Amino acid sequence: MNLNILVLPGDGIGTEVTAEAVRVLEVVCQKWGHTLNLKDALLGGIAIHKTGTPFPAETEKLALEADAVLMGAVGLPEFDEWPPEKRPERGLLGIRKAMGVFANLRPVRSYKALLDSSPLKNHLVDGVDMIIVRELNGGIYYGTPRGIYTDGPEPRAVNTMAYTQSEIDRVTRMGFELARKRRKKLTSVDKSNVLETSQLWRRVVVEVAKDYPDVELDHLLVDNCAMQLVLNPKRFDVLVTENMFGDILSDEGAILAGSIGMLPSASIGAKKPNGAWTGLYEPVHGSAPDIAGQNKANPFGAIGSVAALLEYSFGLVEEAAAVNRATEAVLTSGRVTADLKPAGTPATTQQVGEAVCQAL
Ligand code: NAD
Repeated sequence: MNLNILVLPGDGIGTEVTAEAVRVLEVVCQKWGHTLNLKDALLGGIAIHKTGTPFPAETEKLALEADAVLMGAVGLPEFDEWPPEKRPERGLLGIRKAMGVFANLRPVRSYKALLDSSPLKNHLVDGVDMIIVRELNGGIYYGTPRGIYTDGPEPRAVNTMAYTQSEIDRVTRMGFELARKRRKKLTSVDKSNVLETSQLWRRVVVEVAKDYPDVELDHLLVDNCAMQLVLNPKRFDVLVTENMFGDILSDEGAILAGSIGMLPSASIGAKKPNGAWTGLYEPVHGSAPDIAGQNKANPFGAIGSVAALLEYSFGLVEEAAAVNRATEAVLTSGRVTADLKPAGTPATTQQVGEAVCQAL
């Protein structure tokens, strides 16, 4: 298979973890006989430095031409005081919008070797294996009217949560399709006892479910879901929810994995004629200026993003599983970075990448 991938290392540890993820991708392609065509482009702070904008037109063009995009992270402290529309993080919103990705998938799983790294008791975390599907293009983060109004007797702020039937329909179908390939269980999360958007959400989910009779569906209110994620996380297979609920719940899910450096993510758009999804793949963490340039960053989130890229954008399930098995083997061998190893000598970012390549 030909894999045309655009790589956007970004800023800080983004460049370090992406280098290891690319090495892993190269080994996979070598081993399974795929042709890898890699291109690099600028996004975030480095793009501001070199071109004056966080999301250059050239990057947009290359992203739209590629089969999939592998991203590191963006953000540099020197831009912290800049207005939001000029900051590196605006590059992220720009590329997500340009690629039309509407669902953010965050696989959350426990690894035996990392059970003690989670603040939860081992028996609660052992065996956790879920995917949180967060709607990415709608809801309160994008709704209008929005703003802070100062023309009345006192300042007043407004945000608007809005969803259309089709926005709910497409992300729900993605949740069902993922569940169908896993343990066939979908949990839809809403706040339908209070919000009209959630009432529509639930109505659409129930309607879509008729096309997936083989998948067991249940509904949870978001407050109860937040509780169940720490009380009984193993009950979840695929969880689908709107933008803001997903933002919050997926960070809660992160603690189950032991370190934020472990978590991959996939932002997925429309299906292509060959059945694969358009996708943007990146670790969940940011550019971590506190450890950038020190060869200390945990690359497993980026490497897991390669596994997701292989599976969702190319249907290469066997190759993806091999990357995940190699990850498990390296974790078990104890060659891990400092975030997972409070005592003893930690491995460097590069040593972990090398170990995964060897395990493959
Ligand atoms: P962060 O995720 O960069 O770091 C939070 C903490 O986790 C830090 O202590 C960091 O050292 C640690 N950490 C993160 N990733 C790690 C890894 N792979 N290995 C080991 N430790 C790791 O979040 P932050 O500090 O809130 O943000 C830093 C910058 O990153 C900001 O500019 C922010 O806007 C940006 N950011 C970008 C993204 C993205 O590109 N998707 C996401 C979140 C934050």
